[in-house]
Amino acid sequence: MKTIKTVKSMQKAMQTERRKGHRIGFVPTMGALHEGHSSLVRKARKLSDIVVVSIFVNPAQFGPSEDLANYPRTLRADKKLLRNLDVEYLFTPGNDEMYPDGFQTWIEFEEITRKLEGKFRPGHFRGVATIVAKLFNAITPDIAVFGQKDAQQAVIIKRMVQDLNMPVKISIAPTVREKSGLAISSRNRYFNAEQLDRASCIYRGLRSGRDLIRSGETDVGKIIKAVRKPIEETKGTITEYVSINDALTLEKLDRIDGKVLISLAVRLDGVRLIDNIAAAPGKSKD
Ligand code: AMP
Repeated sequence: MKTIKTVKSMQKAMQTERRKGHRIGFVPTMGALHEGHSSLVRKARKLSDIVVVSIFVNPAQFGPSEDLANYPRTLRADKKLLRNLDVEYLFTPGNDEMYPDGFQTWIEFEEITRKLEGKFRPGHFRGVATIVAKLFNAITPDIAVFGQKDAQQAVIIKRMVQDLNMPVKISIAPTVREKSGLAISSRNRYFNAEQLDRASCIYRGLRSGRDLIRSGETDVGKIIKAVRKPIEETKGTITEYVSINDALTLEKLDRIDGKVLISLAVRLDGVRLIDNIAAAPGKSKD
């Protein structure tokens, strides 16, 4: 695995790969890699000839009161994991490489970033989209793989690629979960075993919402109440939001009619966790 730190060297390496006729698959990450990231790498491997992973903890997507300084950084272990997955290139640019002096160009959205996560994390998706666009320009991937775990991010990236005619295919990989149902996340490292156990209330809530929808319930208020119940019965939780939206457009729904996304953000002992589940009436598979 080759580690590259500058945009120029990355672009040069990718030109060489392209000349060899290789399809480039790309997985952007913030490091502290886990099985969720590995699944994205495996998917990229299936869809392309060479795989590039980036690790960059992007300051522009953290709010002033968020966990940028404490965000887990485990580069040695990350490299080992990526070598074991036979990743060809690791891109680890520094802050000065991505945001040099004088930087002032940002990608902004209209409606799509005003809801759900965007409402609670102003500026977050502007930071995400801008870094993803920059990484795409450095790596020029044919395919980029993102996780369904960050469902709104996936929708926004697809929107950006379509709106700006970016020549990359976006592929979305399913959420990888612990046995307890808890979505694997770099932030789970903040928790001990007892806290991890409590955090499983989030998936229990999502599942009961999904089951209600499958059984034909259409009243959004009732479904949201069922999602909240196991979470609010668990010690140390604060639910920021539970929302039911159209799975494709993220439009907020009053009644269930077709495939929807139940998404939420919950703080457990102060650590903010997000998760989501897809559901459709009568469907017994995700
Ligand atoms: P992050 O390093 O948290 O920015 O995540 C990098 C990518 O991994 C994003 O596309 C996430 O959606 C994806 N990801 C994170 N956790 C999971 C998971 N448990 N299952 C699948 N994908 C994930």
